[in-house]
Amino acid sequence: MHHWRDERVRLAQLPTPIEKMERLSKFLGGPRILVKRDDQTGLAFGGNKTRKLEFLIADALRRGADTVLTAGAAQSNHCRQTAAAAAHVGLRCELILGGEPPEVPNGNLLLDGLLGAAIHWSARDRRGERLDEVAARLREAERRPYVIPYGGSNAIGATGYVVAMEELMDQLRREAISVDHIVFASSSGGTQAGLMVGAALTGYEGSILGISIDKGERSDVPYQVHLSNLSNKTAARLGLAMEFSPEDFVINYDYLGGGYGVLGALEREAITLTARSEGLLLDPVYTGRAMGALIDLIHHKRFSRGETVLFWHTGGPPALFGYAEELGDC
Ligand SMILES: *Cc1c(COP(=O)(O)O)cnc(C)c1O
Repeated sequence: MHHWRDERVRLAQLPTPIEKMERLSKFLGGPRILVKRDDQTGLAFGGNKTRKLEFLIADALRRGADTVLTAGAAQSNHCRQTAAAAAHVGLRCELILGGEPPEVPNGNLLLDGLLGAAIHWSARDRRGERLDEVAARLREAERRPYVIPYGGSNAIGATGYVVAMEELMDQLRREAISVDHIVFASSSGGTQAGLMVGAALTGYEGSILGISIDKGERSDVPYQVHLSNLSNKTAARLGLAMEFSPEDFVINYDYLGGGYGVLGALEREAITLTARSEGLLLDPVYTGRAMGALIDLIHHKRFSRGETVLFWHTGGPPALFGYAEELGDC
């Protein structure tokens, strides 16, 4: 019998490195900051979705799909990595993107086209409905679509981050480093849900702090409820006896700024400070916001100087080119 860890297609360059951000730590006068480079997972400019896609694409192939179908924003990193993963294994890719097609495609959207994905546009708030509609249309045309939810965040995709936590713990053990806090951008939840399952599995004892990118504390389904359901489903799928409740998930909702994808001063300053102090690129939507939050929390003495914070870089820099107008004068 196959073990769940092996039910994957190899798409990522693993393990991703852990680097020290010495100059940034010193500049902030704060805790030691490390960065886990999941922007370097390797597939078509990398990012966190590649770890999830290793398991999702394996499932699509096992089910005999000929097409993968997913949805996201125009500058979705998830859609770009899905298009690349599909191309890599010889599947077709159809993407439903929110908004209006721009005159000149740029950033992730440019790459979606180069990678051969077929693109359907939909009003921002109708992407979910259109997923079923496009899947039905593909079936009528004798295609066998495999539908991947937003951000690849179901129990199969989250498995990628259970394995990522095992990878991290292995690296920390080997390099004799201990981490007190893991900080990262959290949005569709697969990353945080998988990390929590992986933490319970490996005995990681520090905190796991998600920075909410687009969900307020009082959404219809509170994000922590969504995260705990997803972690429970993931653990059940892997046959792990664990039970999570919403209070187990630590989420900070203070940095939503102007909303999803809106670049503000927080993101802009985090992007330029990290670029200029470390030569490390963040993205305008996710990691720029999460790093902005980390910097602000350090200013507010949320971490002590002797602690170690690991910033989990989830990728996204190709979206920088989609924000050239807002970032060009920094
Ligand atoms: C999708 C994404 C996230 C959020 O990960 P989730 O698993 O959806 O919570 C964070 N950073 C980047 C760059 C992403 O593309």
